[in-house]
Amino acid sequence: MNKKKRILSGMRPTGKLHLGHLVGALENWVALQGEYDNFHLIADYHALTTSLDTSEIYNNSIEMLIDWLSVGLDPAKSPMFRQSQIKEHTELHLILSMLITAARLERNPTVKEQVRDLNIENISYGHLGYPVLQAADILLYKGEVVPVGEDQVPHVEITREIARRFNTQYKKVFPAPEPKLAKFARLPGLDGNAKMSKSAGNTILLSDSPDTIQKKMGKAVTDPLKIRRGDPGRPEICLVFYAYHKKFNPAEIPVIDRDCRSGALGCVDCKANAANHIIEYLVPFREKRRQYESNRNHVEEILHDGEARARLVAQKTMKEVHEAMGIG
Ligand code: SF4
Repeated sequence: MNKKKRILSGMRPTGKLHLGHLVGALENWVALQGEYDNFHLIADYHALTTSLDTSEIYNNSIEMLIDWLSVGLDPAKSPMFRQSQIKEHTELHLILSMLITAARLERNPTVKEQVRDLNIENISYGHLGYPVLQAADILLYKGEVVPVGEDQVPHVEITREIARRFNTQYKKVFPAPEPKLAKFARLPGLDGNAKMSKSAGNTILLSDSPDTIQKKMGKAVTDPLKIRRGDPGRPEICLVFYAYHKKFNPAEIPVIDRDCRSGALGCVDCKANAANHIIEYLVPFREKRRQYESNRNHVEEILHDGEARARLVAQKTMKEVHEAMGIG
């Protein structure tokens, strides 16, 4: 039997997750569980690149882990662990940072985009080196596949370059990982923004109550020319249609398309219907979340078990790194 390829995937612990995380990443992670050997990283050091406030990091990590478990990630199959608790991440980061030039990192389009979007005047040394820490995360577990959105592909390319550079300079230790694009594009935010994100305040959280989901969906932007029921609408430009109904209510697409265009359907009812389907979709998630929330000790045990398993792999890799370099 062929050995399963290993996948490293992770997220920064920014708190409770939203539908964009579910559609853009988590459903993909769950689908890949049987086929690959998965490691899931809670990237708490990466969180420092955009905020130095650490007061909520632990709590956010636990909330994110509860969301991961509640969507169906299986801790028996896939270790889940915090980056900060496996010291080898920072050690490998330091070694790898010698194998790439500052100019190469400055050219990285993702960092350039972040600097522009977050209005950062003076980027920190650590933020510029974000892709190097990410390379350490992946290579420490010898990840062969990295599930990413399109914006992360340049980071995987940097990881490949660093892996090749190490292997040539010292001895072959690392595979060159391949990016695996997520099946779905980003889920747009309720305000029509291309991306659902907490900072934009345009999200539906996986843990939102049915009432909150209805209220949030009620504020979603629609076709601006369809003011009241009776006005003909254009579903193709309405995000409630092309994003939410298409994903969460595919069976009714032809009827909604017809009734929106004819004016028989009003936006208030159409949005309430979309919200109902999202609520329905999240029923199993909500039930599991309730169970994990009421047993946080168990969640912490899962985390510590994942960290112990990840640490063994990380230590083995660092032994190989030290031997290849003739250090230690
Ligand atoms: S009826 Fe539905 S699909 Fe048509 S514009 Fe309104 S919310 Fe969008």
